[in-house]
Amino acid sequence: MIACSCRVCTSADEKDKRLRSSILVQSSTTTIVVDTTPDFREQMLRINNKKLDAVLFTHPHKDHTAGLDDVRAYNFFSGKTMDVYANSLTEEALKREFAYAFSDKRYPGIPDINLITIDETPFVIGDIEIVPIVVWHYKMPVYAFRFGNFTYITDANRIEEKEKEKIKDSQVLVVNALRKEEHISHFTLQEAVNLVNELNVTQGYFTHISHQLGKHEEINKTLPSNIRLAYDGLKISI
Ligand SMILES: [Zn+2]
Ligand SMILES: [Zn+2]
Ligand SMILES: [Zn+2]
Repeated sequence: MIACSCRVCTSADEKDKRLRSSILVQSSTTTIVVDTTPDFREQMLRINNKKLDAVLFTHPHKDHTAGLDDVRAYNFFSGKTMDVYANSLTEEALKREFAYAFSDKRYPGIPDINLITIDETPFVIGDIEIVPIVVWHYKMPVYAFRFGNFTYITDANRIEEKEKEKIKDSQVLVVNALRKEEHISHFTLQEAVNLVNELNVTQGYFTHISHQLGKHEEINKTLPSNIRLAYDGLKISI
């Protein structure tokens, strides 16, 4: 966190250095990013990602959308419009916050975006099937996504029973665990552990971690053997 000198922010462990939460989902033919954070550019440069077929959005909060402008690099090298999948709530925010990208008058170099409205209906991008799952971020509906046996949930603190059914028996579940203390719109560490157990998931990883949680190594030691804190650069193969 900017201007913080706590023991996590000053830790020498690389795993305590976190950019904002996002994932890259890749098959042999298709590459998708979930959320374009303010760190999107740095995240793509860090892994030298040369191809991006689509962006999926979970919700309109700035820490998940602010990097959208930088898809223009992919527009430039592919010569194609970027498909961006979001619900109508997120679309409204994108049109407001990136108004220049959606105006009739297009000046050169702006991102070229094709908005595709999604609801709870499963859909396919390339050869990747995607099941949207509605989770609650206090009062805001947020989309989690299931890709085969892998489910990604960011920014949630409540999930309705019928949506939990869609997550059950995932091989891997990535879910937000902000800190130990209660929070109005994020799962705590214990709530996230309980969710992994309840949903009969083989392996859980926690993301969207605050510096308030504690150091990576120390927290990992307290977790059940099938749950680990995620970290920047973590790769999971399914
Ligand atoms: Zn700190
Ligand atoms: Zn949020
Ligand atoms: Zn967030």
